[in-house]
Amino acid sequence: MIKLDFSLAVFLYLATSVITILAAWIYFEQRRYIKRRDLTKDLLRKCDVCTYVYVDSHRENFSTCPQCGSYNVVNMS
Ligand SMILES: [Zn+2]
Repeated sequence: MIKLDFSLAVFLYLATSVITILAAWIYFEQRRYIKRRDLTKDLLRKCDVCTYVYVDSHRENFSTCPQCGSYNVVNMS
């Protein structure tokens, strides 16, 4: 059996706990960032006339620019 000092055991327990929590935090934060990035990429549109960037929440083939009112064709590629 491995002999451990009590303070070393407490340190190892705390260090393992903190590392586990940090790894889970980084993992879930990374997943959330990727989801948000993909969602934003699909919804952002740039007007061909005035280059205004806006959010198109309707996801249609044609969107109307809220700045100048012109129609923009959405590339569905
Ligand atoms: Zn525009």
